[in-house]
Amino acid sequence: MEDSLKDKFKGTLFGQAIGDALGLGTEFMTKAEVEKYYPDGLADYSQIVQDCHRGRWRKGDWTDDTDMMMCIVQAIIDDGELRPLSVARNFKQWFRRGPMGIGRHTCNVLSVAEFLEKPAAVAEKVWELSGKRCAANGGVMRTSVVGLLGEDVERHAADICRLTHVDPRCVGSCAIVSLMVHSLVYKDEILPIETLVEVGNRYDKRIEPYLRMVQEDSLDALELDDESTMGYTLKTMAAGLWSLYHCSSFEEGLLAVVNAGGDADTNGAVAGSLLGARFGYEGIPVRFIEGLARKNVLEGKAESLLAVLLS
Ligand SMILES: [Mg+2]
Repeated sequence: MEDSLKDKFKGTLFGQAIGDALGLGTEFMTKAEVEKYYPDGLADYSQIVQDCHRGRWRKGDWTDDTDMMMCIVQAIIDDGELRPLSVARNFKQWFRRGPMGIGRHTCNVLSVAEFLEKPAAVAEKVWELSGKRCAANGGVMRTSVVGLLGEDVERHAADICRLTHVDPRCVGSCAIVSLMVHSLVYKDEILPIETLVEVGNRYDKRIEPYLRMVQEDSLDALELDDESTMGYTLKTMAAGLWSLYHCSSFEEGLLAVVNAGGDADTNGAVAGSLLGARFGYEGIPVRFIEGLARKNVLEGKAESLLAVLLS
């Protein structure tokens, strides 16, 4: 197995978990609150304030975002390929254990009894009941691992997204993030914005303006800490892409995103996975890896997944 490919595989998985775990430290904060709690910026798990939200997790532990990614990882390990109904089964089993941090839309979908037999139909019904307005980031937060598949990445990303999130903005953002991970890992290439615009337009024309915002010099253009829109799938996608286009290291990119506040664990998960796919496991500061509360779990699953996908 080629070492650089393995390094980028692990970089993607660890980057996701690290971004999630560090981002928890500023989740739901405005940028001003981030500056109040972390005057020098949040740069390590040890700094994470233990308020009633964050105190429920051990410092350095990841949240639902990476839990759901691990459900996908486990399904691939068990089946030797990606089967959506196996992923749905793992989601449901995880949900029954009463996880913390789960988003409202995802919770509504996973609560329905028929989810195991026809997840996408249940997801569609719940979305219709929301007036087709709900386009939360619960799909894009777990999509990075789909980019590690050798082929049919866009189709698989769409299928896995639609298990819970059928809005075309959700599906399009998953396709874009997974395709970008794939390109970084297998070709060491950052896809140009115009290519992403083409992908996005296959799903929904509302995606393009967010891809254009990625080209702004400052992450402030995305207003990640705006309370009414902070869980929006296009904002999370754009935050991750912004870090990829504008930052020259894993650490620089991830710290920019998590210190912007908002839905920071999810934005961090997506940014971290993209940055990990670009800079590899070797490009991740050791303190972020060593400080992960479930580092050994991730290490084991990453090795098993690698064995399946690169065999
Ligand atoms: Mg979370």
